[in-house]
Amino acid sequence: MQILRDVLKEAEKNRVAIGHFNVADLVLLKAVFAAAQELKVPVIVGASEGEREFIGVRQIAVLVRSLREEFDFPIFLNADHTHSLGKAIDAAKAGFDSIVFDLSALPFDENVRQTKEAVETLKKINPAILIEGEIGDIGTGSEIHEKALDLSKGLTSASEAKRFVEATGIDILAPAVGNMHGMLKSMVEGETRKHLDIDRIAQIKSAARIPLTLHGGSGTDDEDLRKAIAAGINIIHINTELRVAWRRGLEEGLASHPTDVVPYKILPFAVESVRQVALSRLTLFNTR
Ligand SMILES: [Zn+2]
Repeated sequence: MQILRDVLKEAEKNRVAIGHFNVADLVLLKAVFAAAQELKVPVIVGASEGEREFIGVRQIAVLVRSLREEFDFPIFLNADHTHSLGKAIDAAKAGFDSIVFDLSALPFDENVRQTKEAVETLKKINPAILIEGEIGDIGTGSEIHEKALDLSKGLTSASEAKRFVEATGIDILAPAVGNMHGMLKSMVEGETRKHLDIDRIAQIKSAARIPLTLHGGSGTDDEDLRKAIAAGINIIHINTELRVAWRRGLEEGLASHPTDVVPYKILPFAVESVRQVALSRLTLFNTR
């Protein structure tokens, strides 16, 4: 069985990106796994602090591990946006493959100091675990926002990225390059798309020289995503698009079974709706 570090290396070599999809229940997990299995591409399942609290830190780890083992499939588990060392330790002990240690809201030097300490502590628990650090401002909340935030002041510079990577010893960097968590209403309706600063990605890549993650990928222009991968993005996070599909599928299931109470007759609509989104994003990320 491959480990995440090797799968990342292979993605870098092949100039494709690994899809990262957040899950909060079995519907989302089944849908993401089905899409990856169909395309035979590696996939990362993410669970934020809130998602972990709902599904259970150790429970999601066991679920993902059972899929990996039963199907001998490269599915990995990431502890998304972890804001404290205590929660990061819980995830490392539960067997997560990677952790996004996110102190990007703190001043730069404090972020460096605490991230470095987290890398050292977490690698003692599991030397193979990958730690992702985050700098810059990409907003919070994978949900539908009423109006756009001005995140232009929080963009990551190449020199900052280099300093951060060298000072902390992180394995993966999440920069702010025009990406943003959540989607605007107009994006959900398909009227507008997010755009990325491709030159900035290329500059950060050549300065940082480690794998890069793009957070907040939902609602991003397809062509921008292709160019971002070519410029050095190795992992792309999609959450809000899945959540929108989850809700729509659930509503469809309930509407078509108005008097039914059997979960396994209603929930497959949500699985199918999410699977289609994951399938289309994975296809884009894995096509050169
Ligand atoms: Zn994120």
